[in-house]
This record gives sequence, structure tokens and C-alpha cells, in this order.
Amino acid sequence: MLDHLTYTAPEPKVIAGAKGDWELVIGLEVHAQVASNAKLFSGASTGFGAEPNSHVAFVDAAMPGMLPVINEFCVAQAVKTGLGLKAAINLRSAFDRKNYFYPDLPQGYQISQLYHPIVGEGEVIVDMGPGVARRVRIERIHLEQDAGKSIHDMDPTMSFVDLNRTGVALMEIVSRPDIRGPEEAAAYVAKLRQIMRYLGTCDGNMQNGNLRADVNVSVCKPGDYERYQETQDFSHLGTRCEIKNMNSLRFIQAAIEYEARRQIAILEDGGTVVQETRLYDPDNGETRSMRSKEEAHDYRYFPDPDLLPLDIEQEWVDGIAQSMPELPDEKKARFVKELGLSEYDAGVLTAEVESADYFEAVAQGRDGKMAANWVINELFGRLNKEGLSVETSPVSAAQLGGVIDLIGSGAISGKIAKELFEILWTEGGDPAAIVEERGMKQVTDLGAIEKAVDDIIAANPAQVEKARANPKLAGWFVGQVLKATGGKANPAAVQDLVAKKLGA
Ligand code: ADP
Ligand code: MG
Repeated sequence: MLDHLTYTAPEPKVIAGAKGDWELVIGLEVHAQVASNAKLFSGASTGFGAEPNSHVAFVDAAMPGMLPVINEFCVAQAVKTGLGLKAAINLRSAFDRKNYFYPDLPQGYQISQLYHPIVGEGEVIVDMGPGVARRVRIERIHLEQDAGKSIHDMDPTMSFVDLNRTGVALMEIVSRPDIRGPEEAAAYVAKLRQIMRYLGTCDGNMQNGNLRADVNVSVCKPGDYERYQETQDFSHLGTRCEIKNMNSLRFIQAAIEYEARRQIAILEDGGTVVQETRLYDPDNGETRSMRSKEEAHDYRYFPDPDLLPLDIEQEWVDGIAQSMPELPDEKKARFVKELGLSEYDAGVLTAEVESADYFEAVAQGRDGKMAANWVINELFGRLNKEGLSVETSPVSAAQLGGVIDLIGSGAISGKIAKELFEILWTEGGDPAAIVEERGMKQVTDLGAIEKAVDDIIAANPAQVEKARANPKLAGWFVGQVLKATGGKANPAAVQDLVAKKLGA
């Protein structure tokens, strides 16, 4: 959108403390599971919900002597994501071992990319309402392995481990601390999710944990953030806390709000915020300390000796760039510019790529605004009510297009069109054929309409008196005629005739 439309930055969220105003500064580390059938360094399946430990290759289980082999498709997915975030692609990147005791990662280290990530600096434009958007800088995206899952609540005396997720490819997308409020943080994650779903690089299923965020929060006084922006000197910002592993947009907002107020209370009390990792407890709506912050050197990162540096070629990257689909912002801008939609409607229609595709099929060769009204008001309204989605819609884009054609040609009125939609929804069928078979065609035969008008006038002499004295009451006759003709009379023709007859 924003290559074409101008926007202004939203105001940062301000929290009034007991001793003055505070502002929030937020940076996110988003872990997005790469959409891929196989893991990052093994051929094991990434299928969700399988029998525990049924998707584990020897290398995932860290059997002695097993060697990791990079999955080219996962690399392509990370590159594609980088291009979608308008980021620099690093033709040489490298994998490092992050040493740590993970009960659910038998290697005893995670293979990640600390020093040389595959993707460098990029940006995400986060819409915060028509004409208002925040530019959030991306610092880097690196590829890394996911860990498995420890299960502590199945047995009173034992813990279990499920290694199905061990070694699945993740993209860690690290933002600069450019997010200025809880709603923006949620909108940022939603935007990343949207872009990756358009690209097909992450399915974005937050409930399954395929998209989760570590949320870094600090607070500062008004003016401090601007000083940071000018100098990129972090000392102008407050000490941050990191809230780990959030997989709900609602909880992200609640956790930020709580965490900011907690830090403000400490600072106003003369205390200092301790940099640490915290967990959000949705039951109490609180964050609590999990562990003190560890530094990179605590992990004793070192280049993984089992993996050569990853060299990719510019032509290969160019090939991926050429296969990129239209991204949500571009699609939205096109809907506004070429189809005359409002920014709001274009935003609704492009929220999910499936909705956008459906809409485009309906709008093809038809009036864009009319197509948007039908898709948003009738179709989406009905889908929401029934808990369905565009993919499972009983009315296809071709059928809805047919309804719009019948309105456009004057064959049916808007009111009948809604009845027709209802028939298509419950019974299916061809719109034009249904209208023909069931006699739903609009009556444009003036003789027939005139007769209906005459009948109503003859039957209501008192009402005629009143309407002659006050022309505003003519609407009542129009309504009666439409009712008498079962909504099939052309409303404009009825209106003309009623005015003429009453005026006489
Ligand atoms: P680490 O890797 O130790 O977690 P980084 O410097 O990579 O540290 O930062 C991690 C995240 O924290 C980034 O998303 C960054 O934008 C964010 N961040 C850094 N400083 C602050 C701050 N003062 N307030 C809020 N977020 C911050
Ligand atoms: Mg971190």
C-alpha cells in the first residue's frame, strides 16, 4: 500500500504514572515455523499431531555419528520471507551451535545462525488504521532448529519427551525496538503472519505454536525514544525484560500492558528494572520472572563444524524473487486504485489471501465496489455466522458473480438478490436458472406495475388524500406496491408511477 499512499506514524502509547508520563518501547523476536514437509537437517516429517516420536530421524535424536544435511527448500523459504520483508539476502551465511541443556533437544545444542544470518535488514509496515502506519525495522532473520516437547503432566512420577518437533526449521525474525504500544505489537505479529501466509512460508497457526513471539518491553520518558532514533544509542532507552513464548495476540497485548506498568512502578519507586526473561501467566494476567537474562557468551556459541558455510547464488535468489506472489500491501493498493474500493474494504478483503482470491474472481469483469459489498456484507457476514471460511463457502465466486450480473442487467432487484443468495447458500444451483424457474424476475412491464398501483390507490382513498396534501407520504404507496408484487416490481418504475398518479 505504502509505495502508493502516504501515511503518518501513530502516536506512541503513553501511560500516566504517579510521577509523570511514560512511553513504551517494544522489540519482538518472532519464531515462525517454516512451511516445509521435512525438517531443517533431516528428512523426517513435520506433520502436526502425529503419534509421539514417530517423526524422528537418527540425526534428530542425535545418534552418534549422524550428520545434519541442510534442506534446500527451508533455505528458499527463508529467502522468500526475507524478500517479502524487503530485506537484504546474505549470499553467505553460517550455522552456529548454541549450547544449552535442552531436555527436548538431545544434541545438547541448537543449530542456529548467530554471527551470519541468512537475511539482514528489512522492514514491515504495520497498518494502524486508514492512513496511519508504523514502519518497524527488521534487524535480521536467521534459520534455526526447534526443540521437542517435554510432557510433565501425564504421570505423577515421570516426565516424557516427544521429539517430533525436534529439528523442525524455524525462522527467527528479529525486529528493532520500533514498536510503541501493545496494539502495535499485536498488529505487527498479525502483519508478519499475513505476509508469510501470502508467501506460503509459514502457515501462521498460532494455536499449534507455529508462530510465537518473545516480547521485549522497556519504558522510557517522552523524548528518550527520539534521542535513540537519532543516535541509535540504546543507552537512551530503559532496561528491557523479555516475555518468552507468546502465541496469542490477545495475551501479547495484555502481557505488554502489565509488564510496562510493573516497570513503571519499580522506577517511580526509585528502583531499577533488572534485565531478565519472564513468563506471562494468562490466568492471573501477570508476568513473572523465569530466569536472569543470559548473554550470547553464556551459550558458548561456535561455528558448527558439521556444516559448511551456506553459500547461495544471486541467480537462485533472483529466481525466488521472480516467483513471489503479490503481497498484501500491493494487493490492497491495487484494489483501492484500480477497483475504487475504500482503504478499509480493501484491507478487509486482503486480510487473508483466500478472501482476496475469492473477491477477485467475483470482481472480474464486474463493478468492483458492488462485488466488494456483496463479498463483505453478504458472504462474510453469512460465513462468520456459520463459522465457515471462504474455502468452505457453499456459494462459489462464480455463483456470487452470477447474482451480481442479474442485478446489473436489471433482471432482479437487490431485495430478490438476497433471497437468491439464500437459495444458493442452502440449495446451490445456477443463479440465472433459479431466477427463471422460480419466476423471480423483476417486473419491468409497466402495464403490470400500473395495475398494481391503481389497485392500491383505489383501495386506500383516505391515504390518497393525505399523500396529496403531503407528498412525503407517497413512499407508503411505493412500499405497498412492492409488497403486493412480492418485491419483484422495479422500485424506480413504481416510484415514478406513484408520483404521477398521486399528482394527477
Ligand atoms: P538478545 O539477543 O540478547 O535477546 P538483542 O539485542 O538481539 O538481544 O535484542 C533482542 C530484541 O530486543 C530485539 O527485538 C530488540 O529490538 C529488542 N530490544 C533491544 N533493546 C530494547 C529495549 N530497550 N526495549 C525494548 N526492546 C528492546
Ligand atoms: Mg533474545
